[in-house]
Amino acid sequence: MKRLTLVFMIDALGFDQAGGEFLPALGTARSPVETVLGYSSACIPSIMTGQAPAEHGHLSMYRRAQNGRTVFGGPVKAIGRLSQLTQRGHWRMRQLLMQYLRRTGITGYFSLYDIPLSLLPEFDLCQRKNIYRPDAFRDEGLTGLGDVLSDPSMSRVWDWTVSEERAWQELHEELRAGNKRVLFFYTPELDSLMHVVGPRDRRTADQLAAYSTRIDAALKLAEQTYEEVELYVFGDHGMAPVEGTHDLWSKLDALPFVVPRDYLYFLDSTMARFWFERPEAEAAVRALLRDEGYGRVLGDEELSALGARFPEDDYGQLIFLLDEGHILVPSFMGKEPVRGMHGYHPSARASYTTLVTNQSGVEYPKNLFELHSVLRESIGRTVG
Ligand SMILES: [Zn+2]
Repeated sequence: MKRLTLVFMIDALGFDQAGGEFLPALGTARSPVETVLGYSSACIPSIMTGQAPAEHGHLSMYRRAQNGRTVFGGPVKAIGRLSQLTQRGHWRMRQLLMQYLRRTGITGYFSLYDIPLSLLPEFDLCQRKNIYRPDAFRDEGLTGLGDVLSDPSMSRVWDWTVSEERAWQELHEELRAGNKRVLFFYTPELDSLMHVVGPRDRRTADQLAAYSTRIDAALKLAEQTYEEVELYVFGDHGMAPVEGTHDLWSKLDALPFVVPRDYLYFLDSTMARFWFERPEAEAAVRALLRDEGYGRVLGDEELSALGARFPEDDYGQLIFLLDEGHILVPSFMGKEPVRGMHGYHPSARASYTTLVTNQSGVEYPKNLFELHSVLRESIGRTVG
């Protein structure tokens, strides 16, 4: 029998986004699917491997450079020093840096955002390799969906390296040709839109309606070529409307310590992560965070329970997680506020994603790890 596993991974398709108006023809139950702590850089590896961040090693895009291991050594260091001397040309410098890093063989997704260039050599990228391709998790001793889908005669994956319009066009060609057993379509566009306009904006509703129509049409097209089509539509996390912005950066700057000599921090939009060289710096930071009132420090036990405890403190000796709806502005991610954000506690109301499927027989997943199993089993059935 000619079977197809048709997968749509829509970044930030939360449980809130995929209500009854989304793919209404698929009347199967939709329940919240729990995500993991972190951003897409943690969630998507969990979908690809079925493992928690502590296992696959990815939490935030930037981790501490350990034992001098960083992609930001050599010329990057020199550019960082240069950038301290001049405030001009930062955008151009970031462009050149990106080009340089690509030439060194980094195939994973990353952005330099607004990270101070002088601090870059203190950090390393967690995603050096494209996580959709084979061997992406070999260093961690794991196999990902990219390994399972490595035979180009059997499957095809569209990731962030392909524009969405081109991906749709190529998907239609594949569906008409009917040669593949697994088609895996990823798009980051909904995530980008909701960051800008917020999850409750009209434009978000329009975008969701457009996906609904296109996926429905793709399923119908597939059913003309294949005898059986298993459709799976899901996100990696949800999206919360932003309600409060906080300038923690200037308060840290005002502390009487030198970065990175006394301590170091990385300011994600919803997490402030710290490493300390001096106990006085740690005491001062902890005292400051206690009074901030829009987040809390995650303890080791809680991090372990979240599968996000890294014994080497790769992502921080201390992690301050913001409450849902709050963001740091400015942060290393940007200087301007946005209207939608994710990366809160996995149990926060808008963190959950969901699964929409035409398969009533599969056991509905409770979290990203079980979602991985659902996909893996479906691929097993179609590829055989
Ligand atoms: Zn996002």
